[in-house]
Parts: sequence; structure tokens; C-alpha cells
Amino acid sequence: MISVKEATEKVLSFEVKQKVEKVKIIESLGKILAQDIVANEDIPLFTNSAMDGYAVKAFDIIGADKNYPVRLSLLDKELPAGQVADFILENGKAVPIMTGAPIPNGSDCIVPKEYAVKEDKNVLVFKEFKSGDNIRYKGEDIKAGDIVLRSMKKLYPADIGVMASLGFSEVLVYKPPKVGIIITGDEIIPIEEKLTIGKIRDSNSYSLASQVKESGAEFKLYGIVKDEMKLIKDKIIYALNECEILLLSGGVSLGDYDYTKSVLEDMGAQLIFWRVNQRPGKPIAFFIYKDKFIFGLPGNPVSVMVCFELYVRPLIKKFLGEKDLFRKKIIASPLETYIHPAGRTDFIRVKIEQKDNTYYFKKTGMQGSGILTSMAEADGLAILPEEASVIEKDFSVDVILLK
Ligand code: AMP
Ligand code: MG
Repeated sequence: MISVKEATEKVLSFEVKQKVEKVKIIESLGKILAQDIVANEDIPLFTNSAMDGYAVKAFDIIGADKNYPVRLSLLDKELPAGQVADFILENGKAVPIMTGAPIPNGSDCIVPKEYAVKEDKNVLVFKEFKSGDNIRYKGEDIKAGDIVLRSMKKLYPADIGVMASLGFSEVLVYKPPKVGIIITGDEIIPIEEKLTIGKIRDSNSYSLASQVKESGAEFKLYGIVKDEMKLIKDKIIYALNECEILLLSGGVSLGDYDYTKSVLEDMGAQLIFWRVNQRPGKPIAFFIYKDKFIFGLPGNPVSVMVCFELYVRPLIKKFLGEKDLFRKKIIASPLETYIHPAGRTDFIRVKIEQKDNTYYFKKTGMQGSGILTSMAEADGLAILPEEASVIEKDFSVDVILLK
């Protein structure tokens, strides 16, 4: 049996075949950029007004004040956004201009509307503005040739806007891996079916698929397979044609009908580890088969989700090109004492509270690996480390934030 740390290192020690794909920029949100975005032009492309107001010459309004307004003569024209001036502004003149309109030649400053009053063919300016005031200069945001977004950057909404402003409609990003999910177990029934004694609804397909989706990968459900070696093997072979990562739920313990491991070994898959010194999720098995990653996950609903968090999610993040493969952790103190065997790492589903700049955690009720509500209520997973068997109230441990 290996430790959580060793198991994590093993999973991440293999090279992954990252693929890239071209997507519409709106589809690239949250993904990792696989190209540099280089500006082909200046943004803005032309010097323009930042305000609705009047284009003037700054030296014409020197000293303008509430009590001593400057009177300028208005041109019989105006400059709405989208229109280019066909004249040069002369001394002592002003022309109405709207936000975004190109500045006419001869003008070097905009007087916002709220500091001016129109009077017949004149405008009174009540405040002095300097040359360059309320003007957005050509190239002040982005210069042609600038690398605006660098490859490997995670894309946020503003990045999508920047790409749009530069005229990029499509972009190269790291392609999400496809993650197949196979459920094993004679007792497992589809969720639409009526529950009878001895049967259990297949919740794992749904919690795992949601975890895959939340990690940024694509899932494919291969349904429920009976505990029969031939059926399991056929399903695995079929799924491996389509997926980079395969998750099997159930059948990895020591029970008489736990076939997942032997089927994979028969197929020639390389067993990297089986059983990790942790709770929940001890029976997890990890295989490599050609360039595919296969996880034999325990069937218990909490164990399957915890194992996904610990081992599958970081691998998906690696495929996606992300820098941070792991979730954020905080340091928190328990509100009650925990005792667990030294050498084993336990993951307690906890609620987190903050008091006086310190985080505290409390377990979400019963912690059995079948109690899925303990997971549903959890803000995080508190890690009871393998080194310490008694975790007192004045200790502090890492808590993985799930939400
Ligand atoms: P196993 O790992 O196959 O021994 O299953 C352990 C426990 O998890 C058993 O009580 C199963 O009924 C339960 N279980 C297995 N697969 C699922 C599933 N897909 N959805 C919900 N519970 C499951
Ligand atoms: Mg089973």
C-alpha cells in the first residue's frame, strides 16, 4: 500500500499527450491558450473622444472658469461616433463631438458637455482643460505587434473581450480530454428505474460526470455493466477507443465479484498502484494502458468522489495545460478532536467557519463512505495527515476547498 503523496506523484509522473483545438473565442473561456495573441493593429486605431462634449483647442480655453467662461464659436457641424471630420478646427472654434468619434485635426482637447452651455452659434466653456484631456490616443491600449496574451494563459472574460477587439474570432486552446465512465455492479440500476430491495441507483455516473465537467473535461457515460469479466472487458475496450482517461466505478476491492483489476491485468494494462493508505478510497487502482490512463475507483459514492478529487482532477488539469493542478487549500483548526491510525491519511468532509481571522472546521455528520450527503454538505475535505494520529483542537491542518 502506498501513501497519498506517492500515489499523486505516480499519477502525475506520466507524460500526457496534450491536444490543441481551434475554437470560437466564446468557447475558449476558462481554457488555456495554446498560441500567442499578437495585435495586428493599434487599439484604438484612431485618436478619439472619451466624452460627449466639444472638440476645442486647449489654448483657447486657458483660464475658463465658472465666473469667467470662454466663448467659442460653434461650427455648423457635429461629429457623432463613426464619422470622420472633413475639416481642420481653427482657432476660437468648437464642434460638438460624441464619445468614440475621431478627433478632428486642429483639436487637442475635449470639453465635456457638463462644463459647457450652448448659446445660439456659440458655446460657453466654464472650465479649463489641458491639451490631451478627455482624449483616447491611437494605440494607447494596445500597439500593433504587441503580444497581448501569451500562450499558456488561462482565459477570463476580459481576455475574450481583448481578442474580440483585435478581430480574433477563433483561437487555439488546449483540448479537454475525453473521460469515459463505466459503472460495474450487479446491484446497480439506472436512476429511472424503481428501487427494490437489494438494488442501488447509479449515483456514481452522475457525480463523476459532474466532477469531470467541473474540471473542464468532457465526459462520456458507458452505462452499467454486470459483474462479469467478459462484459467488463468488452466495455473497457470499446471505451478506450474514444477516451484518454477511463474511470471504472466499483469492483476494485477484495470481494468475490470484484473483477475490474483482473480484467485490466488480463488485457495487459500496467498496474501502477493498487490500494492507497487513505480513508475513504483505499481500494483505488491505477493503470496505464498504451497512452491511456485508467482508474479503478471504489464504488462507494463518497470514496469515488474523493478519489476523483485527489487523483483524476489533477490529471485532467494537466491535460488542459493548467498551471495549478490542485485545488486551493486553507489552514484550519478542528472544532473537535479527531483520532485516526497513524500512517493513514483521512479526508473528513467538513463545513468551514471563520472566526477572528482563523478558520475552523466541523465534520458534516456521519462519515461513512456510503453517506453521500456528507459530501453534498461539505465545503471542503480536511486532511488528517499520516504523521499524526490525534488531531487536537489547537492543531491546524490543510483543508481542500471544494466549493
Ligand atoms: P464495490 O466497490 O463494487 O464493492 O461497491 C461498494 C459499494 O458502493 C456498494 O455498496 C455498492 O452498492 C456501491 N456502489 C457501487 N457502484 C455504485 C454506483 N454506481 N452508484 C451508487 N453506489 C454504488
Ligand atoms: Mg461491486
